Amino acid sequence: MKIIRADTHWIAVPFEHGGPSNTGFGGRPWANMQTLIVEIETDNGLVGHGEIFGHNGIPSALAAFEHQIKPFILGRDASAIAPLMLELQKVNHNFGRYGQTLFAISGVDIALWDIAGKAANMPLWKLLGGSTEESVPAYSSLMRFGDPEFVEQRSADSVALGYKHVKLHERTPEAVEAARRGGGPDFKIMVDVNCPWNVAEAIEIGDAMSEHGVYWLEEPVWPPENFDGLAEVRNNGVCNVAAGENASTAWEFQQMMQAGAVDWAQPSVSKVGGITEFLKVCRLAEMHNVGIAAHSPYFGPGYIATMHLLAAYTGQKAPLERLFGTLEATLYPGLTEPGPDGRIRLPLGAGLGQEPSKEVIKEYRVKA
Ligand SMILES: [Mg+2]
Repeated sequence: MKIIRADTHWIAVPFEHGGPSNTGFGGRPWANMQTLIVEIETDNGLVGHGEIFGHNGIPSALAAFEHQIKPFILGRDASAIAPLMLELQKVNHNFGRYGQTLFAISGVDIALWDIAGKAANMPLWKLLGGSTEESVPAYSSLMRFGDPEFVEQRSADSVALGYKHVKLHERTPEAVEAARRGGGPDFKIMVDVNCPWNVAEAIEIGDAMSEHGVYWLEEPVWPPENFDGLAEVRNNGVCNVAAGENASTAWEFQQMMQAGAVDWAQPSVSKVGGITEFLKVCRLAEMHNVGIAAHSPYFGPGYIATMHLLAAYTGQKAPLERLFGTLEATLYPGLTEPGPDGRIRLPLGAGLGQEPSKEVIKEYRVKA
């Protein structure tokens, strides 16, 4: 089963995030949800899809895919995923172990697992070990609004949609208080601050936030690989600590866990090295008594892959991260909206289980 084609689709879909107009990450407002899809075809006619982490970084991720990854995968055996992933990491290691290179590798890995599931005629969540349930719980992940009124309202909206957890991207105790007002006493609130503070600040502000009930405090210190700093926050502050969306491969997760840095490890399947590497992180987490809280603020094949991975993982795990908001059109109708119980049904088709909409890919294509 040889790889005969590897293409990308870059799309931008108008996105209503429910916050002020300047809401966004990466230094720019997000009016669109951008997704970079990898599409791989084999000589026996199977087609798989993966997602390269992108958003504002898509142009450079695309270049990494075209120049550093694609030349190595054409003609290769699509069923020998693990050795191909090892080779891609080895031939690219001197250009940096993380960033766009690993994101591009991640997208290829997800697409190859999609193909593996199709070749086995099984949905990935069954191929990866199976589950006794045909749905996964999801949590509502709000963008950074910087305005407690929006936080309160969108937390209330999240409860109304069936969610039992909300994640804020706010940095003040007032915002957590507002989420508690909006979501009520039984609602779990996670707070993701995206690496702003030193250790002392993280403990002081995290402890103040915890008065309103914080389920985990995410990436409290700068820089993200400051594992000793995270461990200090975890040991001396009140909050449980989560981190890992910026960790490179299972090797960095091992350092994080050995430092006692986290209660929750957060691999991101479209960043960490794909499904192959995500599974390694799950094994490490289980052995270190650390929970898995997957990072998945995207709506492409990476989101679907995360759903399969969480369904099949039997260790301690958090619900599936689902960005709050409404897309003008979705690649995967039916797989991104929770039911009234806050759960999202698992796809039953082979591989990722559902094909991304060709119409959406065509209509919202961005010219590279
Ligand atoms: Mg985060």
